[in-house]
Amino acid sequence: MVSGVNERRSGNYPIPSSVSMILGLLESSGYEAYIVGGAVRDMLLGLNPHDFDISSSSYPDETIRVLEAAGIRHIDNASVHGTVTAITDEGNIEITAFRVDGEYSDLRRPDSVRFTRSIEEDVRRRDFTVNSLYMEKDGSVKDITGGTEDLEKGIIRTVGDPEERFGEDALRILRAMRFASRFGFEIEDDTFIAMEKCAGELNRISAERIATELTGIVCGMHTSSVIRRCWKIMSVIIPEIALCHGFDQRTKFHDRNCLEHILAVLDGIPLEEHEGARPSRDPVLAMAALLHDLGKPECFRINANGVAHMKGHPEAGRRISERVLTGLKYPKRFTEEVCRLVEFHDVYTPPERPAVHKVLCKVGPDLYEKLKVLQKADIMAHSELGRKRLEKLEYMSVIADELKQSGAVFASKDLEISGDDIIALGCPKGPEVGKILDALFERYLDGDITNSRDLLIKSAKEMIS
Ligand code: ATP
Ligand code: MG
Repeated sequence: MVSGVNERRSGNYPIPSSVSMILGLLESSGYEAYIVGGAVRDMLLGLNPHDFDISSSSYPDETIRVLEAAGIRHIDNASVHGTVTAITDEGNIEITAFRVDGEYSDLRRPDSVRFTRSIEEDVRRRDFTVNSLYMEKDGSVKDITGGTEDLEKGIIRTVGDPEERFGEDALRILRAMRFASRFGFEIEDDTFIAMEKCAGELNRISAERIATELTGIVCGMHTSSVIRRCWKIMSVIIPEIALCHGFDQRTKFHDRNCLEHILAVLDGIPLEEHEGARPSRDPVLAMAALLHDLGKPECFRINANGVAHMKGHPEAGRRISERVLTGLKYPKRFTEEVCRLVEFHDVYTPPERPAVHKVLCKVGPDLYEKLKVLQKADIMAHSELGRKRLEKLEYMSVIADELKQSGAVFASKDLEISGDDIIALGCPKGPEVGKILDALFERYLDGDITNSRDLLIKSAKEMIS
């Protein structure tokens, strides 16, 4: 079935000329050639594709001959699943031969691939109907699986039997969630049932592949409704989510169970607009929102008066976050920032300069900007009584802004005195130097001295003598 959908495709983002040119070259050499996958889906949604993949009935050596005859530079990746990469001024374009995937014995990559001239065979290896549309260079769409209708209705449905497809490659389970989160699509029921059934297989998928999808899931606009529906699947990756599901916090500061509170916090992390793409959330903030209260169930206690509390949950949350993010091999810096946000999410100081200054030193003045956003989203997801804390947050942030604008420093190394100065004042080299610097910094934070070199030298002298 070929449906003419030029009007919709022509929305904002036309097909780049290098892509049309390559499609034209392959066609005039007697092959079928289409744009396929995410680029077609995105153009039909009026979005700007971030890359273009071409699928063709030409086999890799034939594709290379066509490119060479036209003088187009290329990289021969044919041994990697039949892909040839054309290098153009508008970026790299992957041209993949129609193919049939063999067995997935490692649940990751097919053991073998076989090239075919048949588009009907090629489509069967693709994950979802909305990712299985083939676009010709005039913008008309070849739709073999009903993807156009699913795209219009906003439905994620596997191509073929869902259990079989998730059985071949369990990563598709998370891909379904990522697309649902990004586009607000509904996962079709049979697809969803199979996702839950096959979720255990995610344990066999590599950490890096899971991490990429997980970030996409939490950053998407519709993440809360996806996690609400798919919490069992999420729990395969992060088991503490199952403990938070339905967990009654039994405090007057909350009117939601623990997981619902977490989802409300995720919703409260602001969306950022991007030209030609769906709005999304900052990954560090979104991940911290997901993880911030996972330590609550293990810290839950009821005191002698029958009142519940969850003291220590930010520290427990930090431990859980560290384990999860390190296990998924997130970059060190990302892990550390998320962990620090989780650890400090519940810190509200009195509205006094030294107290706020100390928090900024521990969190870091830049990351504090994110902490403020997380804390606000957290407070707004509390009961009316709990929301009273907003005032404290506002005081803290006014003082933090004043501190930053006044040129305050946030680490002892930034004081107007150095270790060499301390040694020059007669302190022997060694750990004592660091201790004096720390003590000076403490006095500075307490407001006893300013960051003036003369004053610092004077204080250091007193400490040494
Ligand atoms: P994105 O916007 O995230 O790039 P995409 O749909 O383009 O989305 P890619 O990973 O770039 O995703 O893959 C391109 C196409 O290849 C998909 O649209 C789909 O048709 C197919 N595909 C990718 N990964 C899989 C998979 N694990 N199983 C089956 N088909 C897949
Ligand atoms: Mg893509």
